[in-house]
Amino acid sequence: MKTAFITGIAGQDGAYLAKLLLEKGYRVIGGDRRTSRNSYWRLDELGIRNEIETVYLELHEPTNIQRMIEKFEPSEIYNLAAQSFVSASFEMPLLTTDVTGIGVLRMLEAVRQVNPETKFYQASTSEMFGQVRQVPQNEETPFYPRSPYGTAKLFAHWSTINYREAHGMFAVSGILFNHESPLRSREFVSRKITSTLADIKNGAERTLELGNLDAKRDWGFAGDYVEGMWLMMQRPEPGDYVLATGENHSVREFVNLSARHFGFEPVWEGEGTEEKATDGKTGREIVRVNPEFFRPAEVRELIGDASKAKAELGWKPGVSFEKLVEMMCESELKRRPTEVSGD
Ligand code: NAP
Ligand code: GDP
Repeated sequence: MKTAFITGIAGQDGAYLAKLLLEKGYRVIGGDRRTSRNSYWRLDELGIRNEIETVYLELHEPTNIQRMIEKFEPSEIYNLAAQSFVSASFEMPLLTTDVTGIGVLRMLEAVRQVNPETKFYQASTSEMFGQVRQVPQNEETPFYPRSPYGTAKLFAHWSTINYREAHGMFAVSGILFNHESPLRSREFVSRKITSTLADIKNGAERTLELGNLDAKRDWGFAGDYVEGMWLMMQRPEPGDYVLATGENHSVREFVNLSARHFGFEPVWEGEGTEEKATDGKTGREIVRVNPEFFRPAEVRELIGDASKAKAELGWKPGVSFEKLVEMMCESELKRRPTEVSGD
C-alpha cells in the first residue's frame, strides 16, 4: 500500500485529492495546521473523514515538517497548503510570502534531508501569468504575477524546478487554472456568487456585492484537476504541466448563469461602480458593484492551454463551465435551509 501525504487537507483540493487517492488504494495522511476551527466539513461532505489520518502540519515549522516525513515515510507528497486567497495576500503580503513561498522551500528542504526519493507535487497557479504575455498560456509562457500571492507562488514554482535540477528530485509543478466546486471557500467569487444568490433565493435580505465583473477566468471543476495532479506524479520523469479547460468566462457570465438557475431574471443597468442587476420578475436588487472588492492590481483575463497535459498525461477536463455552475448552485439548494457549509 502506497502512502501519500497531503498538506492542506482541510482545503478544497485536499478533500478531492484525498478521496481520489483512497479510491486508488493509498493510505492517506492529511496535514493540517492547528486552528481552533476543528472542522473538516469538506471531508465530512465527501464521506471520507474517518478514512484519513490527520496530523499537524505547519508550513512555518521546519522540524514539524521533517518529523512528519520521517514518521510516515510517504512515497508521494502533495503540497497543497497555502494562503491561497489573492485578495488577502495584498493585506498580508509577508504572511503570504512566508507560507505560500518560503513554506514550499521548507517542504523541499525537508524532503531532501529525509528522503530525496520521495515524489513531490507543488500546487502552482495560473496567477503566476498575471498580466498575460501570451494568449492562451502554456508551460512556456513568461510569468508576470500581479499580487503577493502570485509572486510567492512563482518563487515556489522555481524552487521546485531548482530542487529537481540541482538535487535530482522527482519534484513536479502543476500550473493549475482556477478550479471550483461546491467545496470552494465562500470568499472566492464562484462560491460567493452561488451561496449568496441561494441565500437571497431563500429569503435573505441581502444583495450580492462584487468587484470587477469583467474579469475573465478559465474555470474548471476541482474533481477533474486532482486527477491531473496524480497523473503528473505517475510519469516516468518529473515535469511541469498546465491544467485548464481552454475556455474562459467573465464574472458577469457566472452571475447570469447562476441567477437564472435560481429562477431570477437578471437585468443589468448603470456603469462602473454604479452597475447593478435587478430581478426582472420582482424588481428586487440582486447584485451591485462594491469598489471594496476591487484589487490594487488585477489579473484581467486568464485562459490556459493544456495540450501538454493532454498529450503526456491523457488528461482532459470532464465538467463544462455550464455544468460546474449548475453543480454549485444545486449543492447550495441541497444544503439549505438546515446547514450552510464553508462559512
Ligand atoms: P484552500 O481551500 O485555501 O486550501 C489551502 C489549505 O492550506 C487550507 O486548508 C489551509 O488551512 C492550509 N494552510 C494555510 N496556511 C497554512 C500553513 N501555514 N500551514 C499549513 N497549512 C496551511 O485552497 P485550494 O483551493 O484547496 O487549493 C489548493 C492549493 O492549490 C493551494 O496551494 C492553492 O494556492 C493552489 N491553487 C488553487 C487553485 C484553485 O483554483 N483552487 C488554482 C491554482 C492553485 P485552513 O483551512 O486552516 O485555512
Ligand atoms: P483568483 O483568480 O484566484 O483571484 O480567484 P477569485 O475567485 O478570488 O477571483 C476571480 C476574479 O473575480 C478576480 O479577477 C476578482 O477580481 C474577480 N472578482 C470580482 N468580484 C469579486 C469578489 O467579490 N470576490 C472575489 N473573490 N473576486 C471577485
